[in-house]
Amino acid sequence: MNATLTPLHLSNGQDRPPWWIYLLLPLLHFASVKLTLLCAVTPETEVVVWLPNAVLLAALMRYQGQRGWAMAALTYSSDVLASLSAFSPWGAVLLSLVNLAEVVFAYWLMRRMHASLGLQRFRDFGKFIAAGPIAAALLASLLASAVLLQLDASTTTPYLTLVRLWWFGDALGLLIYTPLLLSFSGPVLSAPIRFTLLDGTVVLLGLALAGLVFSIHRGEIGGVSVTPDLLLPPVLYLAVRFGVRWTALAVALISLATAWVLTTGHQPFGAVDVHLEIVRAQEFIFTLCTIGIGFAILLTELKTHERGLEDKVRERTQALEATNTLLAALSATDGLTGIANRRRFDEVLASEWSRAARSGQPLALVMLDVDFFKAYNDHYGHLAGDDCLRHIARMLAAHLHRTGDLVARYGGEEFVLLAPVRDAAEALHIAETARQALATLALPHAASPFGMVTASLGVALHVPTVGETTDLLVQQADQALYQAKARGRNQTVLQASSAA
Ligand code: GH3
Ligand code: MG
Ligand code: MG
Repeated sequence: MNATLTPLHLSNGQDRPPWWIYLLLPLLHFASVKLTLLCAVTPETEVVVWLPNAVLLAALMRYQGQRGWAMAALTYSSDVLASLSAFSPWGAVLLSLVNLAEVVFAYWLMRRMHASLGLQRFRDFGKFIAAGPIAAALLASLLASAVLLQLDASTTTPYLTLVRLWWFGDALGLLIYTPLLLSFSGPVLSAPIRFTLLDGTVVLLGLALAGLVFSIHRGEIGGVSVTPDLLLPPVLYLAVRFGVRWTALAVALISLATAWVLTTGHQPFGAVDVHLEIVRAQEFIFTLCTIGIGFAILLTELKTHERGLEDKVRERTQALEATNTLLAALSATDGLTGIANRRRFDEVLASEWSRAARSGQPLALVMLDVDFFKAYNDHYGHLAGDDCLRHIARMLAAHLHRTGDLVARYGGEEFVLLAPVRDAAEALHIAETARQALATLALPHAASPFGMVTASLGVALHVPTVGETTDLLVQQADQALYQAKARGRNQTVLQASSAA
């Protein structure tokens, strides 16, 4: 049932037809002619649907017209051969030419209407119906009927009746068969489907109903009308659950079964004359195809759209989370120096304070204030002052790198170091090595009696007990810093109570 039988992953239709297409096309075309003739209703081979034209149309759409003339030549030859049984050679040549013109015109119209050729959107399905079943099939029926009248002068069927028969037959053939061939040669668009118990029940009921509809006589059973129309709900169920491919297959099978059952004399549409019966069957197939396949395409399109939206929401959420993380980092960072800011220091101090209270390990706080920094600014300018602060921050950050340690800018030219320590000696060591590291940097400071940038440091350490707040530690370190300043700057002082 597949004109192109290409691997399912080929989705863009830009690929070239593989070599075996040229074998498959005429075979499939020929088989479609025979299948169609099997469903011929009257001895004059009036057919309900004419499938073969869809084979070339689907192939042209699938391969975007690539190697179109080779494919057209093959199906044309097959068409002539198949028609020889019903028409004279000249008639077969002419009528096959009409079929070819129909397909080429349908394809050309779809391109003109900018329809995407995979029939993956509802709008494109509408364009396909307008171009193929409506316009091209009508044009072909006008030509073919004229040819038929010319070929057989004895025919009594009026021209317009011939037009209607040919038009509807061709239109339905394209409508049933093209989406089916395309859906089996293109990609599977819907997500994998889990077959549920309800699906199984509906499919079984649908099959039973189809069996009933096509086996009873004159479309009624015990006074109840049981016509093929009843098969529309199960087809819509397929469209909802299983997408275009399986809906197209079900629609094609039901359509062919409807066409075939007319030949058996079962009269599924009631006790009506054979011509009216054909019209009824064609109306039914038209409704089944447009609604069933249209609905399946529409639903697939909506689901794809919904998935696209979900992807977009997910992307946006990720971007938002990344922005939030960045914002959180920024709100904890000092803009000038890039190290932790006062706000972050307050947070860490609070958490380290509780941790120290639980563990009983002393928490040390070092407050560092740059000496004579006002004078530095006055002498070198504020931009140089900023640079100097950045140097100091970098040096401190490199100096304290154990986990649990924190370096932060407390404000202005003041920095803090926070670290869990074993004892006062370790706290003093941390402060002193920082001061010496600053001395090693030897940043010139002409307005300082030391000739370079120095700092005074106050150190405090404490094991928190119940009821004490972090202010205690900050005040003690501040007092020690004040003493360091008072004693002449460029030195470290350990807060008296911490030394105990
Ligand atoms: P002391 O040795 O007693 O600490 O003297 P000092 O001059 O360092 O102290 P004071 O508090 O008088 O001056 C601090 C100066 O630090 C004043 C202010 O202009 C400067 N300062 C504070 N924040 C910044 C900053 O972000 N950039 C610059 N360039 N200067 C700053
Ligand atoms: Mg200060
Ligand atoms: Mg200062």
